[in-house]
Amino acid sequence: MPQTKWVYTFGNGAAEGRAEMKNLLGGKGANLAEMSSLGLPVPPGFTITTEVCNAYYDNEKTYPEGVSAQVDEALKAMEGVVGSRFGDASNPLLVSVRSGARASMPGMMDTVLNLGLNDETVAGLIAVSGDERFAYDSYRRFITMYSDVVLGVDHFHFEDILDLYKEDNGLILDTDLGAEDWKKLVVEYKAKVEEETGSPFPQDPRDQLWGAINAVFASWMNQRAETYRKLHDIPRSWGTAVNVQAMVFGNRGDDCATGVAFTRNPSTGEKAFYGEFLINAQGEDVVAGIRTPQNLTLKGKEDNNSDLPAMEEVMPEVFKQLDEVRTRLEKHYRDMQDIEFTVQAGQLYMLQTRNGKRTAQAALQIAVDMVEEDLITPEEAVQRIEPASLDQLLHPTLDPDAERKVIARGLPASPGAASGEIVFTADIAEKKAAAGASVILCRLETSPEDIHGMHAATGIVTARGGMTSHAAVVARGMGRPCVSGAGELRIDSKHNTIMVGELTLKEGDIITLDGGTGEIMLGSIPTIEPELTGNFAKLMEWADKTRRLRVRTNAETPADCQVARNFGAEGIGLCRTEHMFFDADRIVAVREMILADSEEGRRKALAKILPMQRQDFTEIFRIMSGLPVTIRLLDPPLHEFLPHGDAEMQEVADAAGVPVSKLHERAVKLAEANPMLGHRGCRLGISYPEIYEMQARAIFEAAIAVQKEGKDQVEPEIMIPLVGLRKELEILRALVERVADEVFAEQGARVKYLVGTMIELPRAALRAADIAGSADFFSFGTNDLTQTTFGLSRDDAGAFLGTYEQRGIIEKDPFVSLDQDGVGELVALGSERGRSTRADLKLGICGEHGGDPASVAFCHRTGLDYVSCSPFRVPIARLAAAQASLKGE
Ligand code: ADP
Ligand code: MG
Ligand code: MG
Repeated sequence: MPQTKWVYTFGNGAAEGRAEMKNLLGGKGANLAEMSSLGLPVPPGFTITTEVCNAYYDNEKTYPEGVSAQVDEALKAMEGVVGSRFGDASNPLLVSVRSGARASMPGMMDTVLNLGLNDETVAGLIAVSGDERFAYDSYRRFITMYSDVVLGVDHFHFEDILDLYKEDNGLILDTDLGAEDWKKLVVEYKAKVEEETGSPFPQDPRDQLWGAINAVFASWMNQRAETYRKLHDIPRSWGTAVNVQAMVFGNRGDDCATGVAFTRNPSTGEKAFYGEFLINAQGEDVVAGIRTPQNLTLKGKEDNNSDLPAMEEVMPEVFKQLDEVRTRLEKHYRDMQDIEFTVQAGQLYMLQTRNGKRTAQAALQIAVDMVEEDLITPEEAVQRIEPASLDQLLHPTLDPDAERKVIARGLPASPGAASGEIVFTADIAEKKAAAGASVILCRLETSPEDIHGMHAATGIVTARGGMTSHAAVVARGMGRPCVSGAGELRIDSKHNTIMVGELTLKEGDIITLDGGTGEIMLGSIPTIEPELTGNFAKLMEWADKTRRLRVRTNAETPADCQVARNFGAEGIGLCRTEHMFFDADRIVAVREMILADSEEGRRKALAKILPMQRQDFTEIFRIMSGLPVTIRLLDPPLHEFLPHGDAEMQEVADAAGVPVSKLHERAVKLAEANPMLGHRGCRLGISYPEIYEMQARAIFEAAIAVQKEGKDQVEPEIMIPLVGLRKELEILRALVERVADEVFAEQGARVKYLVGTMIELPRAALRAADIAGSADFFSFGTNDLTQTTFGLSRDDAGAFLGTYEQRGIIEKDPFVSLDQDGVGELVALGSERGRSTRADLKLGICGEHGGDPASVAFCHRTGLDYVSCSPFRVPIARLAAAQASLKGE
C-alpha cells in the first residue's frame, strides 16, 4: 500500500496541489499552489494537510506515521530552491509557519515569521544580508511572535520592554532604533521568555518548527476559532492545514515593503485596484494599525485624502508587476481577489490570494461588471450573491437632506447607516443588544476577541486602522456598517468616554455612523428608502429568468402591498383579514358583533363592517391588479378582539350601551384554556357563517368594482384557515360559492376566483388527497404547521429554544428556517397526496419561512408553485429561488 501523502510542495513555478484541493490543503495552501503553478512569484514551501490535523486530534495529539519524514523531505526541496539551509549558521533558510483552513478565518489563527533564527543563525543572516539592523529586527520579531503564539508569553511583555527602552533612550519610532538597540532588546526579550516560562528561548530550529506546527493545530480548537466557526457554520471536522514557506523580507530597507490589496474596491465594488502597503515593514504591520499605511494607487491616495505617497509614485516598477498580477489573478479566478504580498529589494512576491470578502453593494457591482466584461455568465452572477445579504441593500440609508452634526470622520470601511448607543466593550455590546438595544461598538481597534460584540452591534467605530484593518474586514463580512480609523476620536476605554473636539461622550449616548462616507454624527439621523434600479434591477432580471418558483408576499395594508409590488412580488400569498378588524374605527363594530346575542344582532354589526372591508380589498386589488391575491378569512379566536382591563371594558360597555357585566360575562364565555388549538379558523366560520359570508361578499364586490374601473383582472383566492376535515372545507366552500353567485347576479358581472385551504394541521397534510377534492389550492401555513407538528407554541418557545440550539438538540430555530425533515416531510407529503387527487392543485407556502433562502430551496425541490414572504424579503426569495433552479435540484 502506498504511503499516505501528508505534505504537498509548491514553488519554483510548480506545485503538487491545485486551487480545487481546498478541502485537503486549506484555502491558503491550495491558492499558494495554484499561484505557483501559474508561474507567479511565490516563495517556495509546503503544506501539511487538513487530514493531518484530524488525525492529530483523533490520536491524542500525535502525528500519523510518515508526516515527519515527509516534512524533512519537503524542507530539503525548499532548501534546494532557495539555496540556503535550515539551521545553517552561515546562510540560514528562514521560514514562516502559517495556518490555513478551508474557509478563510481572518485573524483566527496566528502566523509565525522568521522561524529558524537563533543566536548563531542571526550572524549568518547578517553575513548574507550585510544588514545587522535588519537581522536583529527580524530576530526580535520572531521572538515576540513565537513566544506569543507558541509559548503563551503575551506580546505586551515585549511591548512594555520596548516602550521602556525607547523612553530610557529618548527614541520615539521603531524606525529610530538601530542594530545595537535591537541587539540589546533581543537579549532582554530572551530573558523575559526564560523568566515567564522557566526555560530558555528554544534555539534548535527543528524544535522551533515543530513547536510552531503544533501551535497551529492547537489553535484550531481555541476559543476564538470555536466562536468564529459557530458564527459561520464551519464544522470542526474540516481541520486546518499548516503552510511552511521560505521567508522573503519586506523589512530589509527602503526598497522593501509589505502590503495587502483587493483587485477591486471591496466596499463599493468599483473596478479600481485597492490596497495599502508599508515600506520597510513585515507581515501584518499593515493591518495592525501601528503605522499609517500608504495607498497603492494615486486614486486611492486621493480618495482617502492621504498625504503619503502612493506605491504608483514611489515604486513604479513594482507597482507595474503587481498590477499585472492583479489582472492575471482576476482572469484566472474570475472573481475579485484579496491578496497579500511582500517586496524584497524591488522584487515582488505573492504570499496569498483568495476570493475577497465584500459588501453586498460591492458583490452586486462586481457580479454585474464581470458579466459585462465577459468574465462570468449571468447565471454565475446570480449565484455569486448571497441572498440574505440583499437585506443590506434593501434597508434605508441616511437621508441626505436631514440635518446632521458631523463630529468626526474616519474611513468608509463598510457601508450602511447605523444609529445606536455607544458601548466600549464587546461583552457590553452583546449584553445590551440581547436586551433589545441598538449599540455602536467603539474601540481603539478591534481584534478577534471582539467578534461576538461586533456581531451584536448595529455599527462599529474604530479610532485606528485602515480599510484593511481587522474591524473593516470583519464588518464587511458581517454586513455591519463600520467607520474605521477615526483618529479624531480619543477613545478612553479605562473611563469609558470618547473625547472629540469639545465634546465628551459616554456609554449610552446616541451616535449615528455612515459607513459609506465615514462620517460619525451626534444623535440619531432620519433615513430614506433604497433605490431598486441599476445593478439591483439587472441582477434581479437575470434571477427572474432562471427561477421556476413564483414569489408572493404576505401583506394586508396598501402600503405594504405597494412596497412588495415594487420589490417584485407576483401577488399576495397571505392577506390576513383580522388585521383590518383592529383598526380604531372598526373595532367598535367588531365588538358589537361579538357581544350580540343573536344571529340577527351579529348581522347588523357585520353590515357596518362590510363597506370598510370592501374598501380595504378594493385598495389592495387596485395595487395588485393583474396578480393573484390570497385572502384568508377570519382566523383568530374572537376573544382577541375584546378589550382588556377594567377601564377599557367600561368604555366599550358605555359605547355599546350594555352593562359592563355583560362584557365580563362574554369574555368569560369566550376565554379558552388553549386558544391556539381553540375556537378559531374555519371553526368560527362553521359556528358563525355570517362572518365569512360578509367577508366573501366584501371580496367579490371589491373585485368587481376594480374590474369595472378597467384595471387588469385580479384573481381572488379565498383561503379557509385551519381545516382538518374535508367536511369543514366542503361546507365553507359551498358558502363562498353561494355568496359569489349572489354578488355576480346583483352586479351583472363575474370574476374568476379560487377557493382553497391553508394546510396547517398535520391531519390536513395527511388527509390531503381527500381535502384536495374540495380545494383549488393549498397554502402551507408553516408557522402553525411548525407549532402543531412539534406541539410547540411559538410564543412560549423562546424560553428554551435558545438552550436547544446551544446544546445542538436542534440546529436552527424551526420558526426561522423550515424543519425540512419533519415539518418539511408533511409539506412534501401533503403536496404529493393533494396532487394525486388534483394534478393542477396550486401549491404555496405562506409562513415566515417563505423568505428564508434554505426554506425557499426546499420549496423549489418539493415542487411548490410559489412562496410568500414579508415585503422586504421578496428580493431575497426571488434570488434564492433562482439559485435553487440553477443548482438543478
Ligand atoms: P493570516 O491568515 O492571518 O492572513 P498569513 O499566514 O497570511 O496570516 O500571514 C500574515 C502575513 O505574514 C502575510 O500577509 C505576510 O505579510 C506575512 N508572511 C507570511 N509568510 C511570509 C513569508 N514566507 N515571507 C514574508 N512574509 C510572510
Ligand atoms: Mg493573522
Ligand atoms: Mg494572510
